[in-house]
Amino acid sequence: MKYRNYILAVFVASVLGLAYVQYKYLQIGLNLAQVQFNQKIAQNIRQIKSDLFVENELTYLVGRLIEGNRRDIPMSMDSIADASRYFMKAYLEGILMENGIKADFEFRLYNRDSLNILTSQDYKRSADGLIFPIRLQGYFTEISPDSLTLELLFPHLNRYFLSQLNGLLIPGLLFIIFIIGVIIWVLRSIYWQRSVITTTNDFINNLTHELKTPVFSIGLATKILNENARPDQKEMIELIRHQNERLKVHIEKVLELAQMEKQKKLLNKEKLDVKPALLSLAEQYAQLCKLEHIKFNYILSDEPYYIEAEAAHLSNALSNLLDNAMKYRDTQSPEITFSANTEGKKLIIEIDDNGPGIKKEEREKIFRKFYRVSSGDIHGVKGYGLGLYYVKQIVKMHCGRIAIESTEGKGTKAVIVLPLLNKND
Ligand code: ADP
Repeated sequence: MKYRNYILAVFVASVLGLAYVQYKYLQIGLNLAQVQFNQKIAQNIRQIKSDLFVENELTYLVGRLIEGNRRDIPMSMDSIADASRYFMKAYLEGILMENGIKADFEFRLYNRDSLNILTSQDYKRSADGLIFPIRLQGYFTEISPDSLTLELLFPHLNRYFLSQLNGLLIPGLLFIIFIIGVIIWVLRSIYWQRSVITTTNDFINNLTHELKTPVFSIGLATKILNENARPDQKEMIELIRHQNERLKVHIEKVLELAQMEKQKKLLNKEKLDVKPALLSLAEQYAQLCKLEHIKFNYILSDEPYYIEAEAAHLSNALSNLLDNAMKYRDTQSPEITFSANTEGKKLIIEIDDNGPGIKKEEREKIFRKFYRVSSGDIHGVKGYGLGLYYVKQIVKMHCGRIAIESTEGKGTKAVIVLPLLNKND
């Protein structure tokens, strides 16, 4: 639970961090856009100043308007004002366009006393607007003693900059949303999977616990039956007892694995020479194989094998591999080789058989819990798919690794590598 909260906190912090970085980038983008805009406007102002310095159609028309205002001649001034407004707007638009500025703008022409002489249609000062005053000289100074200023007003500049950045802003936001969506989906799948695994494990544990009682009762009943049985019944009773014993062993195995997983139980490892344990295992299997007419070879190198180990679990794991070599054996002339030797700081244990082998695509999967090769039953061998899973867990707990090498139809070799200790460690 704690781990889950930690992951969630990292996720939320990362998304917030990403959003903040995006926001900062946006601010930087806006500042840069503003700097660029100011540079362009400075060029435009120079151009406007020089265009309006001399007499031309526009300055002449505006000049008439100024004169009309000064002399107080109301007649037909409206039409001159309209024409000037239209002309000025078109001229300024053209100049701004030349420098790539398409932002909305308004203008006004006013004198020293701040009296408006000419304003654009929708001229209205706004709080976030940017104003650029341009002092007009030359022709206008000649016709009017009041110094004149042309003011350019950009009322919605931030909106304009944002619209320019939209090409980056919208995909950026969309990508963040996609990332959040995908991560939420992945987390949900993980939690869902985990809850399925927990439920399955709990179910298996409960089931195996429930099975223990009937198995115990069958064992007891068989024992009582055996005492009073007729000789011809003994064989059947022995079969029941034997199968019941097997079932008991399997149940114990499942429970032990579950216990190990649940408590994350660490082994009680100690430094020891595992060679005697390996030797006794080899001799045991030599006997078993002899009974089953399997050729069994074992080769253990001379030196001792000092490792950090819990001998019982390590022997169990190796037994599982040897059992598999016996279970999945060649039908004609089965042969198993068990060997151990050291290489530098490593102990290498190998179990080799000449059985049917394992397909390449199955080799990774066979270490999974409950996994059995689908053709497993073809060899007429029953199992639960727990053996190799257990082996892998145990090898991991001994800081080692296991690999399965196999050629289909030729045999399988399990190689375990464990870290060796020095004698004096
Ligand atoms: P189980 O033997 O109970 O099915 P294991 O986990 O021990 O479970 O093995 C998983 C699968 O790997 C088996 O179903 C079997 O098909 C395959 N396998 C394991 N060892 C060998 C081997 N030595 N030769 C061929 N197949 C093997």
